[in-house]
Amino acid sequence: MQGGASPKEGWLTPARVVSIAAVCLCVLMLVIQLMGARASAEADGQAALALIEQQPASVSVQAPPSLAAAMAPHQSVLSLSHCAGSQCSTLFAREQAEPCTYGVSFNPQCVAVRSKTNVGYSLLVRFDLLAVLKDIALNMGAVLLVGGVVALWLKSRQAPQQTRAASTQQAKQPSELDALTGLLNRVAFEAALKRHNESEALPTKGSTDGCLMYFDLDRFKIINDTHGHIAGDVVLKTVAKRLKYTLGNDVLIGRLGGDEFAVLLVDVASQATIEQMGRVVIEQVSKPIQIDSITDTVGLSIGAYMIHRGEMGIGDMLHRADLAMYEAKRTGRGRLVFFEEAMDTASRKRAQIQADLKKALEERQMFMAYQPQFDAFDSIRGVESLVRWRHPTRGVVSPDEFIPVAEANGLIVPLGKMVIDMVCADLVALRAQRLQLPYVSMNVSLRQLSDPAFVTDVQEILQRHGLQPTDIEFEITESTAMGGHSGRENVTLRQLSEQGFRIAIDDFGSGYSSIARLQDLKVDKLKIDRVFVQAIGKPNFDPALLELMITLTKRLGIKSVAEGVESVDQVVWLRQAGCQMMQGNLYAEPMTHGQLINWMRLQEGDHSFDDGVWAPTQTLEFAEA
Ligand code: C2E
Ligand code: MG
Ligand code: MG
Repeated sequence: MQGGASPKEGWLTPARVVSIAAVCLCVLMLVIQLMGARASAEADGQAALALIEQQPASVSVQAPPSLAAAMAPHQSVLSLSHCAGSQCSTLFAREQAEPCTYGVSFNPQCVAVRSKTNVGYSLLVRFDLLAVLKDIALNMGAVLLVGGVVALWLKSRQAPQQTRAASTQQAKQPSELDALTGLLNRVAFEAALKRHNESEALPTKGSTDGCLMYFDLDRFKIINDTHGHIAGDVVLKTVAKRLKYTLGNDVLIGRLGGDEFAVLLVDVASQATIEQMGRVVIEQVSKPIQIDSITDTVGLSIGAYMIHRGEMGIGDMLHRADLAMYEAKRTGRGRLVFFEEAMDTASRKRAQIQADLKKALEERQMFMAYQPQFDAFDSIRGVESLVRWRHPTRGVVSPDEFIPVAEANGLIVPLGKMVIDMVCADLVALRAQRLQLPYVSMNVSLRQLSDPAFVTDVQEILQRHGLQPTDIEFEITESTAMGGHSGRENVTLRQLSEQGFRIAIDDFGSGYSSIARLQDLKVDKLKIDRVFVQAIGKPNFDPALLELMITLTKRLGIKSVAEGVESVDQVVWLRQAGCQMMQGNLYAEPMTHGQLINWMRLQEGDHSFDDGVWAPTQTLEFAEA
């Protein structure tokens, strides 16, 4: 479809083939029937000649009495003239019928039948073509009618294909092509999509008029950040080539901008076919790419929307394919996801949260909850701070709902600053009550760490509250909705670590926290994701991964913290495996600052004999980079 059908293919359509065949058949019928009429006149002439020649030679030029009766049924024979050389005499003639004369006439016509016994004798038969012509006209009419109907039917079937071909024509104008990849640019792709959308919706295979796909590369930002924009361009060109090669020239492919592409498939049989095709495209795009002397890879996330022509504007169609792509990213990347209505609802919810979030920050609707962390001897070693949003109409909103939105729109930066400020104020207030807490953990998103002002902002807040870097631990949370990490975040983390802030890797094992990162950064703690902890003792529990994570922390000389501990069995298993710290609802649920003060007073009472309860954790031994 890309590039369109060749002019030859376009001209010789099935409808035209049928029309030409009908016309040829008519011509053939005309010739055959005319020849038939002539042959019949000749046969009549032969019969008449035989009657004449049965007579004695003396009367051979006269009409035998039986001649008129013999010719009566042969209505097309108008007259018979018997000729000896050039001398002719009329032997039979119907009313007003002329004998044969020389000259050209279309109707009636004359044929000469030569005598086989008398050389030089012949019979001229004048015969009428009118009846034959009427017959021919009737037959031709029937053939043309049937041919015309068939041609029209074929044409109607062909129309959507032509529309497809027209709508998927790859633009030839340089202004319509993306200069880097040679694919359609956004404007040209949208114009082609619009043409397809507005073309007459005729029944096609299945119940859809095609599939609109939104492609977004995974890891592209990392390539750009680590190897530079020229390398990024090489990747985009390679991906474009692979898309063209895999999808074929018949498919409309556009580059919408950056690392986003769109594809319109018009001849699609089923979702299963598209899924299969998506797998092949992802596989091809994910193959290593040679960029000068280095080799790197990108991935591909695909959102797909089954379109129905004329149902909605192309903006809404693209939005739906984009939402499905977002879902593909959110749920692990490198996959194809079809649009579902629920995604639209979720996106509206996100939009609402986004709108409300700005106001929430202005009005300081956020507050902090705290969850204590314990060592293997059930002594409190710190607390993790968890932000909450007291929404004016919805009540308390979980961070799982609004943190991803804040990360996506950048509001996480002012929100993060507000959190650090609130946590520092709470820690100072706690200590003012003579409750000794060695440090508070704070969750920070990668987006915050990529902010060049982050370190100075933190220092400024700490100074304002009279606190030290050792009072704070940062937990790095990686949202899967974010596009990887660049060098900037690592620089920030290294600066924080050098200044004495503790660094913990949160949700280890479930997200993108990689072992490579542990080597790269000075990390104090690994927080083992609660998914692994909560699997302990369950029917298909496989201890291998948990044991591996705990062994890893021991080898690196850093602490392991089990998150989401809910049962005594889990604690027993974790302790035996050598896990150093626990956090979870079994020990204490997250609580407000006021509740924490009361709770700590009780704990202080319980542990008054234990000098180590409120003491800072041991001197940290950073894993070497
Ligand atoms: P996280 O850092 O892994 O926090 C632990 C989450 O597990 C908390 O959910 C906590 O309430 C929950 N949890 C603790 N113990 C248990 C348990 O025994 N069972 C179960 N089922 N859950 C338990 P929460 O407060 O909803 O926070 C969710 C996530 O939101 C956090 O996961 C963190 O990634 C993020 N978050 C929270 N506060 C902040 C913040 O101030 N800044 C940033 N950037 N992210 C935050
Ligand atoms: Mg955390
Ligand atoms: Mg966690």
